[in-house]
Amino acid sequence: MMKSVRVVVVGAGVIGFSTAVCISEALPFCAVTLMADKFSPDTTSDGAAGILFAAQFPDIPLQRQRRWFKDSFDHLLAIAQSQCAPEAGVMLSSGWQIFKEIPAVETPFWSEFVIGFRPMTDVELKRFPDHKFGQAFTTLKCECSTYLLWLEKRFRKAGGQVEQRKVNSLQELSNSFDIIVNCSGLGSKILVGDTQVYPVRGQVLKVEAPWVQHFIRDGDGKTYIYPGIRSVTIGGTRQEGDWRLQVDGGDTKGILERCSRLEPSLNKAKILSEWVGLRPSRKNPRVEREVVQLQGRPVPVVHNYGHGGWGVTLAWGTALDTLGLVKQSLHEMASQAKL
Ligand code: FAD
Repeated sequence: MMKSVRVVVVGAGVIGFSTAVCISEALPFCAVTLMADKFSPDTTSDGAAGILFAAQFPDIPLQRQRRWFKDSFDHLLAIAQSQCAPEAGVMLSSGWQIFKEIPAVETPFWSEFVIGFRPMTDVELKRFPDHKFGQAFTTLKCECSTYLLWLEKRFRKAGGQVEQRKVNSLQELSNSFDIIVNCSGLGSKILVGDTQVYPVRGQVLKVEAPWVQHFIRDGDGKTYIYPGIRSVTIGGTRQEGDWRLQVDGGDTKGILERCSRLEPSLNKAKILSEWVGLRPSRKNPRVEREVVQLQGRPVPVVHNYGHGGWGVTLAWGTALDTLGLVKQSLHEMASQAKL
């Protein structure tokens, strides 16, 4: 098929690859290139625990957030329940989210999309004497260091091209592409001059503890234990505005202490690795389109970045929205061409 529209997706994290797959599979007449300076295993997405649930963003209609969550959950659930699951790095994961104080919202907006959501019983809570309230449910865990490679294969199969390159400005792309899709995460601070994006530093450890089978997350988001396919991820930290990528010994000690309080058997676990990532945070993720004058020509730019601590959870849902925005840009281009 003749590929007549040239689309570039900037970013090779879970947002960039999900978006590139959605566009290349749905719009076969588009020649899609994914461009990034860092690829797996060196993106933020690679180290994410990849567990699916979310916090509510203040200014995005709840209906839209519900759709993002549901679309992502259904997409990954279908993978988890297929023979692709090991190759894609997606698994079902059951466990508890526990709270020291009863939370303002006891039933979050995503509770109807996960499986078997219910308040924990008093007997279950006895294990966590510092906590008063808890939610039990089954969700999904998507391990991006595996999932990104699987998405890349899917993208190439749909005809996508991949290029390793740092993009210094959108101008650089305007001669070679008709539509620019920006999935550069924290990179958007410089690439599109967005002063609203900021890092929230997160440190995690991977430990060997195959006997730990249920996730446990403190509702404050700072302490969590997530069993995965080959290891258990324990964390964490949420340090706003902190750009340090080095592992901090004090953070490691704090993580081990806090997690062992929730799951004392972790005292016996062997540490396999330590990792730091910077969540690309923003008050609200930016999933919208604009037309930018580049080298004297109007170029449609579709943004999809700023997912903070929920990028794995929302990747497929926001990628589908981005696909919709690319389609709108195509319609506009077609009607302008007719004028
Ligand atoms: P990234 O993965 O950072 O990718 C950005 C891409 O853009 C990279 O390829 C980069 O090279 C490229 N780029 C940037 N600027 C340029 C440029 N100028 N030129 C070329 N390329 C450029 N989320 C969940 O949903 N569940 C979790 O359990 C979870 N746990 C987490 C735990 C930790 C410790 C951390 C740090 C994060 C966690 N997250 C979790 C959040 C999740 O990791 C992020 O939301 C997600 O990875 C963001 O994906 P992204 O593709 O936007 O960014």
